[in-house]
Amino acid sequence: MEKEQKEFYEKLESKGVSRRAFMKYCTFVTTTLGLSSSFVPKVAEVFAAPKKRPPVVWLHFGECTGCSEAMLRSTYPYPDDLVLEILSVEYHETIMAAAGQQAEDNLHAAVKKYKDKFVCVVEGAIATKDNGIYGRIGGRTFLEIAREVVPKAAAVIAIGNCATFGGIQAAKPNPGGYKGVSDAVGVQPVNLPGCPYNPINLVGTVVNYILMGKVPALDAYGRPLFAYGKTIHDQCPRRSHFELGEFVTEFGSEEAALGYCLYEMGCKGPETYNNCPVAKYNDGTNWPVEAGHPCIGCSEPGFWDNMTPFFEPL
Ligand code: SF4
Ligand code: SF4
Repeated sequence: MEKEQKEFYEKLESKGVSRRAFMKYCTFVTTTLGLSSSFVPKVAEVFAAPKKRPPVVWLHFGECTGCSEAMLRSTYPYPDDLVLEILSVEYHETIMAAAGQQAEDNLHAAVKKYKDKFVCVVEGAIATKDNGIYGRIGGRTFLEIAREVVPKAAAVIAIGNCATFGGIQAAKPNPGGYKGVSDAVGVQPVNLPGCPYNPINLVGTVVNYILMGKVPALDAYGRPLFAYGKTIHDQCPRRSHFELGEFVTEFGSEEAALGYCLYEMGCKGPETYNNCPVAKYNDGTNWPVEAGHPCIGCSEPGFWDNMTPFFEPL
């Protein structure tokens, strides 16, 4: 264990990440999960000395790969640390070297070898109309692939609004009959919606799975409560500042201060459950509402239909 940890910290240092910065990140993951600070060393252990690396089969269906990009472009944890240190990725179309028949063979081999043991991450919606003929990979429909692979997993994590609720593919008139994983296959995944989702919530879900041996507590839409338990509005700094009256003082009148809240610009924060105000993006740099753009409700079911027009108040 000590040897593994020493090697891990040496590797981090060679990448310019200090032990202090790493512990800060572990504190952030622990806080995101809603755990007490006593869990920080345990979370650090998941990264520094993983007892077991769950095998992962990462499926792509109808999507833009923005959720994979969100994970691959997160600065820390470095994608190779996340992918290779705490997970054993057996199949991922975007990052694996194999292509064509070899890739198909890899998928079959991984599902057979790790049946009931692997974590299945799904990115993208599944076409279901006319037996799913409107979405295919390697001659097989998304629906066939999902029905074969998803039920054999020990845990299923659907990432992004497409895999969770159908995303833009499922927007009216939805000619391909696109659906999220639970509606298409009948298996309830851990849903991490967003457009794209926030990679910290995947890290939190995986750390929770490794630490506790089970998926985190979920809401009625299958979303982890640690990330989707509160509305954007309830956590929004524009609201709390306004309520504190700071901006009435700063802007000179209540009318001017009201402009600070983006509700009149169409902000869907009061109807949207997500942890963007706390987790933020780009290593905690900022998030849309703080940067001046209203929330468009990307973590809610059917947001392309239900939250549009985006720039009109609810
Ligand atoms: S900007 Fe949006 S989330 Fe923030 S207080 Fe206004 S309506 Fe609520
Ligand atoms: S602020 Fe709203 S629209 Fe923006 S990423 Fe968060 S949930 Fe999605």
